[in-house]
Amino acid sequence: MTTLYCARWVLPVSSTAVADGAIAVDGETIIAVGPRAALVSQFPEATTREFGESAIIPGLVNAHSHLELTAMRGFLEKEETDFFAWLKKLTIARRERLSADDLNVSATWGACEAARAGVTCIADASDSAFESMNALRDVGLRGIVFQESFGPDPRLAKENFEKLSARIAQLRERETPLVKCGVSPHAPYTVCAPQLEMIANFSVTESLPLMMHAAETFMEVSLMREGRGPFAEGLRRRGIEWQTPGVSTIQYLNDHGVLETRPLLAHCIYVDESDLETIKQARTRVAHCPKSNAKLGHGVAPFEKMLEKGITVGFGSDSVASNNTCDLLEEARFALLLARSEATANVRTTNKPGEDDGRQNHGLSADELIQTATLGGARALDLQGQIGELRDGVQADFAVIALNGPHQIPSYDPASTLLFASSGRDVVLTVVAGREVYRFGQVVTVDEDRLRARMKEIAEKLRV
Ligand SMILES: [Zn+2]
Repeated sequence: MTTLYCARWVLPVSSTAVADGAIAVDGETIIAVGPRAALVSQFPEATTREFGESAIIPGLVNAHSHLELTAMRGFLEKEETDFFAWLKKLTIARRERLSADDLNVSATWGACEAARAGVTCIADASDSAFESMNALRDVGLRGIVFQESFGPDPRLAKENFEKLSARIAQLRERETPLVKCGVSPHAPYTVCAPQLEMIANFSVTESLPLMMHAAETFMEVSLMREGRGPFAEGLRRRGIEWQTPGVSTIQYLNDHGVLETRPLLAHCIYVDESDLETIKQARTRVAHCPKSNAKLGHGVAPFEKMLEKGITVGFGSDSVASNNTCDLLEEARFALLLARSEATANVRTTNKPGEDDGRQNHGLSADELIQTATLGGARALDLQGQIGELRDGVQADFAVIALNGPHQIPSYDPASTLLFASSGRDVVLTVVAGREVYRFGQVVTVDEDRLRARMKEIAEKLRV
């Protein structure tokens, strides 16, 4: 049974845009992409879905999220200027005040939000990976759920690692063709070096994908370089030994075998030229989270430089506790605007008056940003060749985005309308492996009304 999805524009990402285009889907797979007229005559028996003034794009890939924390959207605004307090309130609320069912509802609601925004694939870091895997499966999204591991105390490294490997054995039994598991040593300041080494080794021998938060804050830099700052004090207060490595986070991860796993690293704000070179040589992948970084005041990652160097980058929303939405089009727009502002600011601070008026040519285009949000994300998750583009033979993961809103008309170029004038709320259809999971304003795979009511209950519980 073949279905033709037709629209004013098809943006395959890996090839040029097709006006009045269509994609032909058979089961889970795209079998053809091209002009509507050509596909209609090639597949005369096909069912036709007509979307008119809209664009069909590959499904957006969210390269970093924490779906289980969806209930904490807006919950931590007061702590935002103190990341240490922010992490502490979040951890206590998650561990002590949310039941397994609360976490499942929270993750499922997050997955609904993603599906509604045209996201078809998610790299999710989770303390309760079991619940996140179920959420992705129930909503019908694709993804990798990385079971988080914590443990700053070297004396407990072995015990913590054994807990993780036992958990992974259980999670692997829950894997489906669409939902896989991986490991996530949380961050350099929450996982000690021996535990990092055990997890890295485990990732290599078991072929498990690994993701980690890295080079996110200046506090982390102080801990790494000088053994000072709130993280260092926190460890000292708990009587935990910390041997200051005196190097950058990236160098530290390289020294302890983490880069041998070709990890997916979230944030990478505090990285210098030599770190970027190390990242490139190790074929490490980066989840760029510009909105979360800005909201928490952590800084700006060198996104444009990473692309120039040929480093694989995808966009991550991070948790909605620090964003506050999962909207990859908005994330991409923010990334471009921020990169341009940064480039101009750099010229202004480094040039002498009269040397340059502050304008300069910058390479980032709307097409490139849409590519990062789709194919870039697919590469970041090692799923290139399966998703991230529209061509025959790949999985039918795509989104249809309306282009006829008052905020979008007129449209001279579909990619620039998508990037500069559209948001996830313009998505009208989301398809994963050929299955329509969001259409006509509704996620069709789960009961959104029940989830909405439960989310309100959970918020009441967190409020007290
Ligand atoms: Zn994160």
